[in-house]
Amino acid sequence: MPELPEVETVRRGLSPAMEGVVIDQADVNRPDLRWPFPERMAERLTGQTVQKLRRRSKYILADLSSGETLLIHLGMSGRMTVSGDPLGQFVHEHPITQKHDHVVFHMANGARVTFNDPRRFGAMDLLQTATADDHKLLSVLGPEPLGNDFHEQHLIDAFRGKNTPIKSALLDQGIVAGLGNIYVCEALFRAGVSPRRKASQISATRVAALVPIIRKVLQDAIEAGGSSLRDFRQADGELGYFQHSFDVYGREGEPCRTDGCGAPIKRITQSGRSSFYCAQCQR
Ligand SMILES: [Zn+2]
Repeated sequence: MPELPEVETVRRGLSPAMEGVVIDQADVNRPDLRWPFPERMAERLTGQTVQKLRRRSKYILADLSSGETLLIHLGMSGRMTVSGDPLGQFVHEHPITQKHDHVVFHMANGARVTFNDPRRFGAMDLLQTATADDHKLLSVLGPEPLGNDFHEQHLIDAFRGKNTPIKSALLDQGIVAGLGNIYVCEALFRAGVSPRRKASQISATRVAALVPIIRKVLQDAIEAGGSSLRDFRQADGELGYFQHSFDVYGREGEPCRTDGCGAPIKRITQSGRSSFYCAQCQR
């Protein structure tokens, strides 16, 4: 499942193909994904210039010249492919249409952007740009972890009286938007905080220390995504999935990488999801 850094990498990969460019034609090949598409979606997209391509949490937002914004969510298995436009040092040829190519954007610069989603947990919607923040998916979101509203005092206040494990508190999208399982595990490892510890029982100093760590974990991953775009060899021009090595995520039973530790990484289930951590380093 794509997390914030993957979505940001997709946004950056789409930007040269779409930003400032007219959508010559939009093909909408089915009535819905997770939810029904908005009415006359193809018509409302065709002929519009993509003025800006933004990201909020794990949503890509394309502001159109019509005053509407196209919201794109990749869901579990959604993939965006760019063809006919340079991606790093490569130009990928237009692929033959695949079975799950649900929406295709033919851009005026010759680029083609394809949204493919076999499991259809993804979503697209059209909203008024001026009131986009009020959309039901966006209004519930807390501050962006890389934005100015995510700061030490915000997290300290949010954790006060929060009797859930810190793992769940950080996954709460109302506290901080866009953090997912992988990067929460990684941030807690770097911070030396056990995922089992109750949010309200962690000292303000340790909570404050989490803020720059969360930012750094995400920035490191976005940087890895950026290098993947510069050197984009993937044959079909698919965006957003890149090689990235994790300290704890997916490393159950493997030795902790902290100097002098080497304890096996543990995996436990919390709220139905796996938490990976080092019981020696994280308290
Ligand atoms: Zn360790």
